[in-house]
Amino acid sequence: MKSKISSGKLRVYISLIVFFSVLIVVGALMRAKLQQLLWSYMETQVTKQAEVIAELTEEKIELELINLRKIAEYLERSQTTDKVVLQEVVGGANNTGTTGVSAGLLALNGQALSGEKLDFREFPSIQESFRGNESVCFSEEKGLLFTTPVYDGKNVRYVVYKLYAKELISDRFGFVCYDGQGDAMLITRDEKVILDFEHEESGKYLAHEDVQMAMEEIKDLMNVSTAASKYSHSETEKNFLFTAQIGQTDLFIIGIVPESIMSEGISYIITLVLWVFGLLLVLFAIGVAYLFVAEQKAVESDKLRAAKSVAEKANQAKSDFLANMSHEIRTPINAVIGMNEMILRENRDENIQVYAQDIRSASNSLLSLINDILDFSKIESGKMEILPTEYTVASLLKDSYNMVFMRAQDKNLVLTVENDATIPAKLYGDEVRIRQVITNILTNAVKYTKKGSVRMRMGWEQMEENKMLLRIKIKDTGIGISPENQKKLFTSFQRLDEKQNRNIEGTGLGLTITKRLIDLMGGTIFVQSELGKGSEFTVEIPQGIISKEPVGEFSELALNLEREQQRYKERFQAP
Ligand code: ADP
Repeated sequence: MKSKISSGKLRVYISLIVFFSVLIVVGALMRAKLQQLLWSYMETQVTKQAEVIAELTEEKIELELINLRKIAEYLERSQTTDKVVLQEVVGGANNTGTTGVSAGLLALNGQALSGEKLDFREFPSIQESFRGNESVCFSEEKGLLFTTPVYDGKNVRYVVYKLYAKELISDRFGFVCYDGQGDAMLITRDEKVILDFEHEESGKYLAHEDVQMAMEEIKDLMNVSTAASKYSHSETEKNFLFTAQIGQTDLFIIGIVPESIMSEGISYIITLVLWVFGLLLVLFAIGVAYLFVAEQKAVESDKLRAAKSVAEKANQAKSDFLANMSHEIRTPINAVIGMNEMILRENRDENIQVYAQDIRSASNSLLSLINDILDFSKIESGKMEILPTEYTVASLLKDSYNMVFMRAQDKNLVLTVENDATIPAKLYGDEVRIRQVITNILTNAVKYTKKGSVRMRMGWEQMEENKMLLRIKIKDTGIGISPENQKKLFTSFQRLDEKQNRNIEGTGLGLTITKRLIDLMGGTIFVQSELGKGSEFTVEIPQGIISKEPVGEFSELALNLEREQQRYKERFQAP
């Protein structure tokens, strides 16, 4: 049994461990998935932001080119070849008046008609402009160059340019990345750095092996779009890496934004989702466990019900058998008693008289035994019914006295029956069963008392208008019952102190029947006893009141009784 319980517990523990392991694994997987979803959402946000930075830079570049276009258009319209005029007009391109910004006009043969002569190899964009395109180009030595073609009819005649020295680029084209929390640089397609990262660490971060892998992925993405972003991390930092191409140029912005800034305010969503998920799962598990236990219990109670019904049927069969058997035995015993009575009356032989008396005593014992069994089986099978009728307290007292009088006399015991004279004379209740209760307790009192007295006292207590509590106290000076045995007193077939009582007849059924009858009548019984000194049984049974007239003292009743007995004897002898 013990091992069964512990193996059951073990199964529960294992199930719990498995459940929580699954919960942890699923939770971890969910967390990773959610994190990925969140990163991908943030990458989209960073990409959008990168596009905005690129557009702002593009606008600045566009502005430069527009200014140059205006000059080019003017030169086209004026068709002037006058060097002085040309210098004056082109010089206007440097309208900032800042040193480090220069403008010029280049002829197809490379000669500078105005401003500084520039090397075509250093600035391939000049060639591009001679082919009719506006262009932006960067030289690590000289700086950032904007070029626009000047047409003469359908052919390009000159290229007008504006050059920003390196140290001026930052002031004019620099950008703020994520309110200064991010960092970015401007580069050409062939990775010449126009504007470097503001912080040295950003460059180091970009050089990290894992970050470079993310950069490769971004490059792949850039084949199909103008901006892209990827989550990346080194051992110490986590950042979103981004790139955006500046429209109409071959320039790119590469930058980083710390992950913490992007996830600010939304990373708690993962924790929240995980908690909710965990709680739901735990609730679900509790529900499943509850259903499982309920089903187990239902199966168990079905089994128990079936077993109970089998046991009840068996018990019913046993009770029926006992009832039938007792009934069947009673008939021949009554015949034996009757015939024996005839022998006792008619026989004059002394020996036979003695035998017949023995037969009478034995068959009476047998009859009372059978009656007990019959009563018990009736109670057990629920067939015992309480049948209330009107009765007189006087007859109840007399009968109780008569029942044990002879036995008490045989044992030289003083038998006293007293009563509260005010008890209502006529009551309503099951007199037969009350008499049976009193007889059982009185008989026991006489049976288990060797010397001294047996005293019965009947009292009462008004309950309602027509209801009262009949109280019967039976006290003896007998062997007494130990406290431990008092607990077993009303248990079926329990005879106490078997050794000591082996010479006293009994089945151990008397008090059980007594207790059950009292219960059926809505009453109570309890015992006070001291070993070796005696016992007192108190029975209280509710009864109806038919006549409130007081019953009087028992001694008077006893006299009446004797007179009646007298008359009875005479009547009996008459024939
Ligand atoms: P039994 O047929 O053996 O008398 P009961 O049910 O009437 O069965 O009593 C159960 C046991 O209680 C008895 O065997 C006896 O040991 C004890 N008992 C009952 N009444 C008394 C009493 N008045 N004094 C001492 N012992 C008693």
